[in-house]
Amino acid sequence: MNMRPIQMVDLKQQYVKIKKEVDSAIQEVIDNAAFIQGKAVSDFATALSAYTGSKHVIPCANGTDALQIAMMALDLQPGDEVITPSFTYVATTEVVALLRLKPVFVEVDPKTFCIDPAAIEKAITPRTRAIVPVHLYGQAAPMEEIMDIAARHKLYVIEDNAQAIGSDYTFSDGRTQKTGSIGTIGTTSFFPSKNLGCYGDGGAIFTDDDTLASRLKMIANHGQSRRYYHDLVGCNSRLDSIQAAVLNVKLKSLDAYIAARRSAADFYDAAFSAHPKITTPYRASYSHHVFHQYTLVLEGVDRNGLNEYLAGKNIPSMIYYPVPAHRQKMFAAFGGGDWSLPVTDWLTERVISLPMHTELDKEQLQYITASVKEYIDK
Ligand SMILES: *Cc1c(COP(=O)(O)O)cnc(C)c1O
Repeated sequence: MNMRPIQMVDLKQQYVKIKKEVDSAIQEVIDNAAFIQGKAVSDFATALSAYTGSKHVIPCANGTDALQIAMMALDLQPGDEVITPSFTYVATTEVVALLRLKPVFVEVDPKTFCIDPAAIEKAITPRTRAIVPVHLYGQAAPMEEIMDIAARHKLYVIEDNAQAIGSDYTFSDGRTQKTGSIGTIGTTSFFPSKNLGCYGDGGAIFTDDDTLASRLKMIANHGQSRRYYHDLVGCNSRLDSIQAAVLNVKLKSLDAYIAARRSAADFYDAAFSAHPKITTPYRASYSHHVFHQYTLVLEGVDRNGLNEYLAGKNIPSMIYYPVPAHRQKMFAAFGGGDWSLPVTDWLTERVISLPMHTELDKEQLQYITASVKEYIDK
């Protein structure tokens, strides 16, 4: 069999196609020795602003910093409550605890995997200051309802867009907007395996608000707008010029990358359709799913057994995430153990993510889907 080895994410094969352009972009940064805050960074911020429609794009060191800087810029105070899903990557919730804010974990919708607006409403108290929806696996959270709740209760919304960059959200009046540009602030990550990934760490923050934008910029740069005059407590969080150079090349392909992911998802959907034990990813009508992950929900299947069976056939698969936030020891001091989130626990036991990236070919997809069914139907 001469099939290409299957990866969870195939960055090598993707690089081969853009190698010339990426190599020369990186070389240009080195030739100019503009490693920090170089032209590549400002060019990328401008290009990403045009792409997303977000007025201000503030590049930073990674997606976790982006969330932290967002919460710092909103001047949230220790003890302020921040509503987030528990069914997410740890970064979303970790920064809440790091800033001594109080994470309030709520349920997700078992169909979309995203935060449930009804659960948000129930969790609001006089100390609630912000909601952090996560566009998990590339599907948008129901932003229209979330923005409406936020407006009624005067809350900030920080969109964790690390998994959905490039996704279009459609409002009930037909208007569309890119995810990450809808909330008070949006954040994203350019971790290599993300839909728009660089070759190291990177992140960005989005806002339309001029005042917030200047605070975000200052906080990401030691609280200064003028060198050596530090007006705010900040941090050191920059996107390297070399990473920005890579991103400038890759941003041009983002829509094509999304199309490739969606076409792999279509193949999976067709192969698993109407299988009694497999629920394929729901596609919410308002969301243009960008398939950061392709995640199945399995009923009556030994999910971990499937994971091992696939590994034995050289097919990687992953459990995103094996422990939800409300069960992480990290949050023991934040009401750990008191949370009852049955939907989140139910999903955690049943989800499995299959290889999803821009380079999957028919032969690989055929082999993966046949192997999954082989195990489930045996
Ligand atoms: C990847 C990710 C982050 C963090 O991004 P880093 O760049 O790794 O710090 C935050 N939230 C979600 C949902 C993510 O998937």
